[in-house]
Amino acid sequence: MTPDRSADVVVVGAGQAGLSTAWFLRKYAVPYVVLDAGERPGGAWAHRWPSLRLAGTNHVHDLPGVPLRDPDPCRPAAEVVPEYFAAYERDLGLPVLRPVRVTAVREAGDGRLLVESSAGTRSARALVNATGTWTRPFWPAFPGRGAFRGRQLHTADYPGPGPFRGERVLVVGGGISAVQHLMDLATVGARTTWATRRPPLWRETPWDVDAGRTAVAQVEEAVRAGRPPESVVSVTGLPVTDDVRAARAAGVLDRLPMPARLVEDGAVWPDGTRRPYDAVLWATGFRAALEHLAPLGLREPGGGIRMEGTRVARDPRVHLVGYGPSASTIGANRAGRAVVRDLLDLLGRPAAA
Ligand code: FAD
Repeated sequence: MTPDRSADVVVVGAGQAGLSTAWFLRKYAVPYVVLDAGERPGGAWAHRWPSLRLAGTNHVHDLPGVPLRDPDPCRPAAEVVPEYFAAYERDLGLPVLRPVRVTAVREAGDGRLLVESSAGTRSARALVNATGTWTRPFWPAFPGRGAFRGRQLHTADYPGPGPFRGERVLVVGGGISAVQHLMDLATVGARTTWATRRPPLWRETPWDVDAGRTAVAQVEEAVRAGRPPESVVSVTGLPVTDDVRAARAAGVLDRLPMPARLVEDGAVWPDGTRRPYDAVLWATGFRAALEHLAPLGLREPGGGIRMEGTRVARDPRVHLVGYGPSASTIGANRAGRAVVRDLLDLLGRPAAA
């Protein structure tokens, strides 16, 4: 082991949450390093499907200090956002090391943490985890999933609509990703069915600050109690944009309850209705990528991690950003600021440094 003791803080992940944290650590002159598993800048945005235009996102918030100036809304989000993040890292000289995957974080025994990674082991006084969810797509257990002979893929692998031209596709899931996939697939004449466990929750009214606060408070309450977080989007509802309104009018967003099971060539509903499919697209969400923190034993018996703001209740050296209430681009920015304020205390550094 060759611990590099020059960094007080190790930030894991260089997406919106990690870069925002880096901005505030830099501002307060806290020695830190960011370890990022990505081959290139951009966090999860580098992997979004090519047909997701910036205009189709749910708003990508600026990183602190340097706005994303007048981006072309028609360009793919998977190009624009990574370019923006790359320029941010470069122009600010942020110490981001990649590709470096953190494999385990352990107790060092001297009050520090040992951060094991594909590039060796470092020690740190504090760790800010900003690893997002993209690397942990959630595939629900579902009857007949092994029997279906067609293609099955998850949002994380969705290549855009091209390969589905004229095909019959079952899209499963009640979130924004499912809605975007259905509208996307309609552009190539795919015949889709949308299946969700509960009727979709449409939000006709514009999103305002109060509604945002209520949604964030709901997720905060869950993580304070140590329950696994619901995604913020799951409590904000599905925004009804002009495109969504048009898709609803065209029947693209008609929804069915979940089938009872998949069968070799399609799916069967509880009333016996059988529908054939070429592909099933699971838009069933993601889970927080926290496996590397397992040696620290942060989880409560219920499976969640009890949080006090961004700080893990069981270990004040560890912060989670982009987790629970901060799992949105704006939430991640706010969390970056809150984390660094808290860490200044822990590290005994003056806030005015
Ligand atoms: P990420 O962007 O996922 O960054 C995490 C980084 O950590 C990655 O670079 C990854 O390589 C790295 N990493 C992971 N594990 C390790 C490890 N073990 N060691 C080292 N590095 C690691 N939110 C919005 O506010 N607006 C939107 O329009 C929006 N659209 C979305 C669309 C989709 C399809 C999805 C799935 C989510 C969307 N979200 C949106 C939520 C969005 O994911 C967050 O807002 C935000 O982009 C996540 O940033 P992050 O920094 O937390 O994570």
